[in-house]
Amino acid sequence: MALERTFSIIKPDAVRRNLIGKIIAKFEENGLRPIAIKKIHMTREQAEGFYAVHKERPFFGELVEQMIASPVVVQVLEGENAILKNREIMGATNPANAEPGTIRKEFALSVGENSVHGSDAPETAAQEIKYFFSDDELVG
Ligand code: ADP
Repeated sequence: MALERTFSIIKPDAVRRNLIGKIIAKFEENGLRPIAIKKIHMTREQAEGFYAVHKERPFFGELVEQMIASPVVVQVLEGENAILKNREIMGATNPANAEPGTIRKEFALSVGENSVHGSDAPETAAQEIKYFFSDDELVG
């Protein structure tokens, strides 16, 4: 198995409900170590650029509004098979379909306000890490 890095966001709905610690605990308990972490309030431009792949989708406007409503925590997580493992720990996009014990099953409010983002492939992980972090912020 390969040591990988993936990108994670603890979204506004979870930060507002004081779930940062509980969510990071899930990552650490499952072998994903934060090697970079910061709290930011995304600008509209940042959020629109980050989710540009979804700009034609009907939920794009609502998604951007939710992501800029209040601060988020952005992280780089490192571990064996980190990209897939993070997706498993997060659970399905819609919390109604998420497995028991996953972050989204336990904490998400709705398909939109679903508490976390995680990269879905090596290419997007690399792009998303670069979007928010410089190389010298990654402390492996
Ligand atoms: P994931 O975050 O699981 O990779 P997607 O890439 O499909 O999911 O969607 C990105 C984000 O857009 C989701 O996490 C969610 O916040 C929002 N979203 C996706 N589908 C919907 C929907 N049908 N209604 C509202 N928001 C949605």
